[in-house]
Amino acid sequence: MTELVLYNTRTRTKERFEPIEPGHARVYSCGPTVYAPQHLGNLRAYLMADLLRRALEAEGLRVTHVVNITDVGHLVSDADTGEDKLEKAAAASGRSASEIADEYTEQWRRDLRRVNCLEATVYCKATEHIAEQIALARTLEAKGYTYRIDDGIYFDTSKFPRYAEFAHLDLGGQEAGARIGDVPGKRHGADFALWKFAPPGVKRQQEWDSPWGRGFPGWHLECSAMSTKYLGAPFDVHTGGVDHVAVHHTNEIAQSECALDIHPWVRFWLHNEFYDFGGEKMSKSKGNLLVLEDLVDRGFDPLAFRFFFLQGHYRQQQSFTLEAMEAAATGHRRLLSAALEVRGAPGEAAPDEIAVHRERFCQAVRDDLNAPRALAVAFEVARSADLGRAARRALLLEFDRFLGLDLATALPRVAASGGDPRIDALVAEREAARKRRDFADADRIRDLLAGEGIAIEDTPAGPRWRRG
Ligand SMILES: [Zn+2]
Repeated sequence: MTELVLYNTRTRTKERFEPIEPGHARVYSCGPTVYAPQHLGNLRAYLMADLLRRALEAEGLRVTHVVNITDVGHLVSDADTGEDKLEKAAAASGRSASEIADEYTEQWRRDLRRVNCLEATVYCKATEHIAEQIALARTLEAKGYTYRIDDGIYFDTSKFPRYAEFAHLDLGGQEAGARIGDVPGKRHGADFALWKFAPPGVKRQQEWDSPWGRGFPGWHLECSAMSTKYLGAPFDVHTGGVDHVAVHHTNEIAQSECALDIHPWVRFWLHNEFYDFGGEKMSKSKGNLLVLEDLVDRGFDPLAFRFFFLQGHYRQQQSFTLEAMEAAATGHRRLLSAALEVRGAPGEAAPDEIAVHRERFCQAVRDDLNAPRALAVAFEVARSADLGRAARRALLLEFDRFLGLDLATALPRVAASGGDPRIDALVAEREAARKRRDFADADRIRDLLAGEGIAIEDTPAGPRWRRG
């Protein structure tokens, strides 16, 4: 048994993790639909999977991590209606679907590298696994789980008695009932497409021949087909955003358990909560989409965003605001400064000096990847007057295998002196706060800047700032 305990959505309890195959953990993560930039909210799912990966490796396990890239079949609506997101983006921009997919895949991979997510073992694209998806749908058809309507081949959820179990669905509920009318001929609200026919008279950019006619796979099929191909079945952990529980993951389970005659198909299901953005969900329609590059443009170190992520537990909603991001950047700089201070410390740490801190850090990681608690232990160590410099150096480097903040090499970010528009703006903001006699806000901004080593001097001509 490993010491790692994870919250399993399937059982709604925390369970001790043990890989099915001794010494080897097999993990699948639902990846991005690459029709638009991946925003900060999207990144949380991959940061969580990265923590899981690092925690499994800390237990001495080899990890095979598979992440899919959805580049076809994800429709605008979960009810199998509406346009394909990729085709829609292509039509709107005049570019090809594959060009768009390549661009946003590259952006996503670059952002993952910048926040220190470890490379997955396999990144697999839906469009490169059409044959596997057709084979899976054929198996389901041969076993009698499917039916054909004008629109495509559908999975009959009434034939899978456990369908409602995973997400605790109320299938008689209004929402499920409402979805039935969306596609004429659909037998039950929850039934979903395995294969969609290309609409008559419409030439899609992405369509393939199949035993049922020309068309494209339903979105859920790819994750069942590709995870089985690269990980076998059953496998250990499946991760994704909490929004996938009710539909996407429920459908993946239905397809896989019926096709493979297996239960449970996956032992552990981990789901991350959302970021909320000043009380609102980040979304394209609200126009509050921020991507990592936007933070970089505002002078943030990408790893400060990783630090922000570590400040919240993945199963809790976390509020993202630029103010919270400033606070995270300050915390990040402080930890880097403390690590920098002991970086060259000579000598070896005494084992008994570090054992108790190591133990507390490991306990935090092993308690369902409790990053905020792990981070707090790292700060205690960084600030501890009782620990020698060599001990602090050794511990911080060890902790960083989980935290991923480059504590061994990164430097606290200091913008080039003078003419820094971000700091100019903050100083102006503080001045405005003083003018409206909001001294608490003014002091907050002053402290924020002091954390970056910036002093403000109030002169008769107005405020001036300098470093040091
Ligand atoms: Zn998926």
